Amino acid sequence: MTIHNSTAELIGNTPLIKLNHVTDGIEATIAVKVEYFNPGGSSKDRIAERIIDAAEKSGELKPGGVIVEPTSGNTGVGLAMVAQQRGYRAIFVVQDKVSESKRAVLRAYGAEVVVAPTNVEPDDPRSYYRVSDRLASTIPGAFKPNQYDNPNGPLSHYHTTGPEIWEATDHKVTHFVAGIGTGGTISGTGRYLKDVSDGKVQVIGADPEGSIYSNPSDVHQYKIEGVGEDFYPKAFDRDLPDEIVQVTDAEAFEMTRRLAAEEGLLVGGSAGMAVVSALKYAREHELGADQTVIVLLPDSGRSYMEKIFNDDWMRANGFGDVVDRTTKPSLAE
Ligand code: PMP
Repeated sequence: MTIHNSTAELIGNTPLIKLNHVTDGIEATIAVKVEYFNPGGSSKDRIAERIIDAAEKSGELKPGGVIVEPTSGNTGVGLAMVAQQRGYRAIFVVQDKVSESKRAVLRAYGAEVVVAPTNVEPDDPRSYYRVSDRLASTIPGAFKPNQYDNPNGPLSHYHTTGPEIWEATDHKVTHFVAGIGTGGTISGTGRYLKDVSDGKVQVIGADPEGSIYSNPSDVHQYKIEGVGEDFYPKAFDRDLPDEIVQVTDAEAFEMTRRLAAEEGLLVGGSAGMAVVSALKYAREHELGADQTVIVLLPDSGRSYMEKIFNDDWMRANGFGDVVDRTTKPSLAE
């Protein structure tokens, strides 16, 4: 019998699963690392634990302290879970495009949620960055993890996600694909895989159309949550990715729905986006049967039931084509 002392012990060691149905015509093995198996439901549990450990060690976070962070939800969940276990108060600032269900999850863990507008410049005093700065500088005992700049974000992936992939593939991984939000996942995992393979593992970034990473001259709003940016965070090592593949909202959402319907993987929109990037890359580079592509899927589709998995929301947002294509199963076959 194995009884764990707390959920924190179950962070990491997520499984790799081969994709079998959405990979038509691709010879390479495409496998996904499914991060919703983390206890908080996303890859962000990894960074939360390491960031809080480091802040306790450095004295930035003291007993009874307050954690304040701008987050799209997943980092908040990870931080909220660890904060709750260790007796810290947690306050999160989220953009208004973040789903109500994600906000409710944060509150359920005992955290407080402040909502800021999405459609303002990062330097605007109303932006979620500036609102969280203000809270962090005015609340006594406040500690701002600052996932965009904190080196412990990428380091957590260097020390956990990277080695897990290297070992689970028996050192056969040839490509690593991940979306870029803060850039922590791709930078930490990618750096580790490059270090252990003498630079052989190719690192491919996935990016929404409208984000700065794939096209700095055409930055605009998009619907995929948690990825893409309108500035370059310090957590992102810009020299690391060998290629960045751009994906539209519609492509990402169609794949997200297909992953649930065809592969049994109920994942979020940034996961669908990462898979589209991997498939585009594999087709374009004609990857052969000796290649193993690992795609990181950051979170669960449960957080997107009222959006990507809601036909009315999809149609209202101009993704009616996706709905019509993906909700007509070919029963005749
Ligand atoms: N997908 C989702 C749903 C996320 O919340 C995040 C984190 N912002 C990412 C992908 C990207 O991860 P990272 O910040 O490590 O680049």
